[in-house]
Amino acid sequence: MLDVIVIGAGFSGLQAAYSAKQAGLSVAVVEARDRVGGKIWSVPLASDRGCAELGGAWINDSLQPRVWNYVQKFGLKVVKQRLEGTAVMQESENERSEFPFGVAPEFSSEEKENLAFIRDHFQAESLKKGLPSAEVDNMSLAEYVQKLGVLPKVAKMVNIWSQVMHGLEATEESAAWFIDYCRRNKGFMAIRADDSTGGQYMRFQDGAQSIAKEIAKLIGLNSIYLSSPVDSIIDSKSHITVTTRNGKMITARKCIMSVPSTMYKEFNISPPLPADVQTVTNGTVLGDYNKAIVCYDKPWWRTEGFNGYFASYSGPLTLGRDTCVEEKNHYSLTAFVNGKPGREWSKLPPHARRAAVLKQLSKVFKGNPEVFRPIEYFDQIWQHEEFSRGALAPVHAIGHLTKYASVYGKPVGNLHFVGTEYSPEWKGYMEGALCTGEQGAEQVLESLQKIPAKI
Ligand SMILES: Cc1cc2nc3c(=O)[nH]c(=O)nc-3n(C[C@H](O)[C@H](O)[C@H](O)COP(=O)(O)OP(=O)(O)OC[C@H]3O[C@@H](n4cnc5c(N)ncnc54)[C@H](O)[C@@H]3O)c2cc1C
Repeated sequence: MLDVIVIGAGFSGLQAAYSAKQAGLSVAVVEARDRVGGKIWSVPLASDRGCAELGGAWINDSLQPRVWNYVQKFGLKVVKQRLEGTAVMQESENERSEFPFGVAPEFSSEEKENLAFIRDHFQAESLKKGLPSAEVDNMSLAEYVQKLGVLPKVAKMVNIWSQVMHGLEATEESAAWFIDYCRRNKGFMAIRADDSTGGQYMRFQDGAQSIAKEIAKLIGLNSIYLSSPVDSIIDSKSHITVTTRNGKMITARKCIMSVPSTMYKEFNISPPLPADVQTVTNGTVLGDYNKAIVCYDKPWWRTEGFNGYFASYSGPLTLGRDTCVEEKNHYSLTAFVNGKPGREWSKLPPHARRAAVLKQLSKVFKGNPEVFRPIEYFDQIWQHEEFSRGALAPVHAIGHLTKYASVYGKPVGNLHFVGTEYSPEWKGYMEGALCTGEQGAEQVLESLQKIPAKI
């Protein structure tokens, strides 16, 4: 019998398996997809100009030590996010304004002051410790900023934050969840920043998925079962048995589940998870968190003085960035098609999605005809993925963060839970996934040391 079986080969599952193996435990990883990496998926361009990051892409060398350690260990090459140039704010389909990247959009002075007030409030809140109160947890983010006296244009900006950070509208997540997310992730400003102080500082030249592929090699490819969706998990106290849809049955002393909690209800778990664990996990939602990546022969927007960054109140693209990798002759704009506008856009057929993306880019970049000359185009709808069902990470139902804090993510019998959603730091990110992977392996090791090795 194995010591531990890990369900899922995303960053958290791979790290859990690797840490367990390093601690001397025998491990197997069972993954539904035919690849490792989960929500990190780097697909090659047909033009051989590097890859498109359909999932996570950005990292930070000084703030995210686990990811950075792997970058160095595996000798991966990175690029810094380009900061120079003019940014664009699209306030409605036909209304746009330009502003220097890194400062507030061209709002009125009263609105700029209000935006700075709201931003500073969240930054101050996010530097506090502990969980926000149940009162704040029972209020949506939209209601919370109304109470702070938000102006209409600034409320729309708060909605963009919620869309691009979590794939949800500000009415759909609790203010406490938003604040807690900022607290775990070095503060609101670090989450939003594209320079060395924030989460969008660097990208990979050859794709973030390289890390997953390399960790998989360290675990041992023979111990990783791909294309094997798990169907049932039976905890028999002395051991735990995992059965896949293709009939594979694996028994181990412990099981680490790395699938997002929103999806636990899709597994046959016996005995069933305790009622309060079911309530909180069934209540989590995965956002509409999609990407459209448009690749060009040249970075024409730079020639025009644009940074490539834009934010939009009209959608469907909510926010975009330059994602070029000059070393690969790769010139692309990547837009997030998130929240409600992303939900509507994702219902369109592929040709109509592409048309909507190009039309909006044309409005953002002043009708430049180059917009309509992409060499390659990708879009990725994570809600359509059977083994993800949305992104970025599960978000608690309003009021549940504080109510179920004592059970959420805690082991149940021989079943342990990891995944970026549980991370005390960089929750929602690759770094957070690695952090919980380490923690899950530690939990298992500790509990195995308490029981005899042979049963
Ligand atoms: C569009 C997008 C942009 C992002 N941008 C960034 C970014 O710039 N920087 C950053 O750090 N993070 C980013 N993220 C977030 C990052 O991708 C995630 O935080 C991280 O990859 C989550 O890892 P995980 O292991 O917790 O979960 P997952 O990656 O979801 O792993 C879960 C694994 O379980 C598998 N699985 C599911 N069901 C089953 C089953 N029945 N049986 C077996 N296996 C199963 C899945 O296939 C998957 O491999 C982004 C994500 C998306 C989608």
